Amino acid sequence: MTETKTIRLYDEQVMLRSCQTVVTACVELKNGFGLELAQTVFYPEGGGQLSDTGKLLFDNKTVKVTHVREKDGHILHETAEPVAVGTEVTAEIDWQVRFDHMQQHCGEHLLSYGFWKLCQADNVGFHMSEDMVTIDLNREVSEAEVMQVETLANQQIQENLPVKTAWMDVEQAAACATRKFNDKLTGLVRVVSIAGSDACTCCGTHPPMTGMVGLVKIFRTEKHKAGTRVYFLCGRLAMEKIQKCWQELSASVQLLSLKDEEIKLGVERLQTENRELQEKLSLAEERWINEIAPQLLAQAELANEVKVIEVHFDDISAEAARKLAQRLAENPQAQVTLFYKSKNRLNYILTQGTDVPGSCRERISILNKKLGGKGGGKDNMAQGSSAL
Ligand SMILES: [Zn+2]
Repeated sequence: MTETKTIRLYDEQVMLRSCQTVVTACVELKNGFGLELAQTVFYPEGGGQLSDTGKLLFDNKTVKVTHVREKDGHILHETAEPVAVGTEVTAEIDWQVRFDHMQQHCGEHLLSYGFWKLCQADNVGFHMSEDMVTIDLNREVSEAEVMQVETLANQQIQENLPVKTAWMDVEQAAACATRKFNDKLTGLVRVVSIAGSDACTCCGTHPPMTGMVGLVKIFRTEKHKAGTRVYFLCGRLAMEKIQKCWQELSASVQLLSLKDEEIKLGVERLQTENRELQEKLSLAEERWINEIAPQLLAQAELANEVKVIEVHFDDISAEAARKLAQRLAENPQAQVTLFYKSKNRLNYILTQGTDVPGSCRERISILNKKLGGKGGGKDNMAQGSSAL
């Protein structure tokens, strides 16, 4: 591998989407190849920011770059096929992917500043994935604090503050950093500072003005270790998620004939109604069991001291079926097989009174075989089901 280091154009020129360059090394990897370039616009995965993707163009050919990483100071552009050293190529990144990353990363700085400034909470972990970004705070924050921080971050977006990057020595960086400074750092470090807001060491790409972040939206928080994990999205990705959520919300309030801001009220109302209906159904089933159980016992013929009762129902709840089967088995001579349908399955409950020989376990294994079903239980009660 060559010792010439790739010039990192993304360091200073974050808005650059492509560049002319030359392949300086091509190594075989486990899966595919790793290309080094004389200069690159591709950001390698690191510092919590995801890798750029894109393509290399040369001689009417296109080679996809699927991932970029840094190894021992070398930037490897991962491709499925090799490209000869010395080939002049146009390196071009997937701009939407990069811009999404820039929005998320800058939004992360704005939020981290807000949590540090308003809640004295430090960001101790940053993770970006395709559909959500998280930061981990070293102390628990309240819902009200989360709202305050989100509001501050969005204010700073609307103020369209300049975002600057500069290389400086560690002492200088420590002096101008607002948040917790990593004192293990040595030599020259890169500081990203937002006027009137965050300043910290960072190697990632940020838009030149905070206005380009567009929006920061925190969707959820949860307790994490001794602190809080904050789930959020910025810019286009935040907008997309809000659009989806809003569609769901609008459809729901329409179904409930309510205003947008009454959705919680509507769900609570449904829960109460559902609970009341459940109670009514339970009482009705209880009354029905009281009526039908003596009828079924009276109708059953006694043969060899056993009353064989086999009944089928289409529309009773699992709870009612179980209660009826148990009620019938209170008669010492009753041998009960109760069938009922639910969720496209034929369910069966077997019970029996204390004087009936044999066990429900034996009876259900015969029934399972006959119906191709499965289930089991105890001597006096067993349950199973088969496909309809
Ligand atoms: Zn950063």
